Amino acid sequence: MPVPTNNVSGPSEVKAYIGLGSNLDDPVKQLQRARRSLASLPMTRLLECSSLYMTAPLGFEDQADFANAVCCVATSLSAINLLIQLQVIEDRQGRVRDGQHDGPRTLDLDLLLYGSKTLRQSGLKVPHPRLQQRAFVLYPLAEIAKKTRVPGLATVSSLLDACPRQRIERVLTPQSWMPDRVRHDGVI
Ligand code: AMP
Repeated sequence: MPVPTNNVSGPSEVKAYIGLGSNLDDPVKQLQRARRSLASLPMTRLLECSSLYMTAPLGFEDQADFANAVCCVATSLSAINLLIQLQVIEDRQGRVRDGQHDGPRTLDLDLLLYGSKTLRQSGLKVPHPRLQQRAFVLYPLAEIAKKTRVPGLATVSSLLDACPRQRIERVLTPQSWMPDRVRHDGVI
């Protein structure tokens, strides 16, 4: 049987990309804590993270700048179980779910890509439906996956070229926002 191309090493491992964002309660610390939690997820290895960026808020503009980054994991969790784990991490970091989409938040974790899968079920849409409109997602994603194809769309780098501009400042290299004791399992 042919090995699916989105597999990483084990037969059931899939490479997934997760977008991280925060603009409340020390955003850089929030992202560091989330990165540590991603490294401890069951059946999952943290492979790589982008630099950390400070970005202008979109939509609801009267709020603090966001810290944003993207991390890549290899996981044997299903997409829905991975999303549930991401929501547990958000909840642990004080995420208030008030239905306000672009408002201030301690931590937002979005499942951006799950291998080459397209999923459109209630509560889970992959690729993330607003990915191509958001420079604050595409810029860090392009840093670690610029040639990756977003299913149904194009490569990350061509989506970034076509995306509306936004104020984005790279403030910390991948290494310098790594919290203590986080283990990365190497680049594929
Ligand atoms: P948000 O306010 O952006 O955190 O949206 C959270 C809601 O989006 C939750 O109800 C999720 O079930 C839903 N959702 C659908 N697809 C995704 C995805 N790919 N990543 C994160 N949340 C998602």
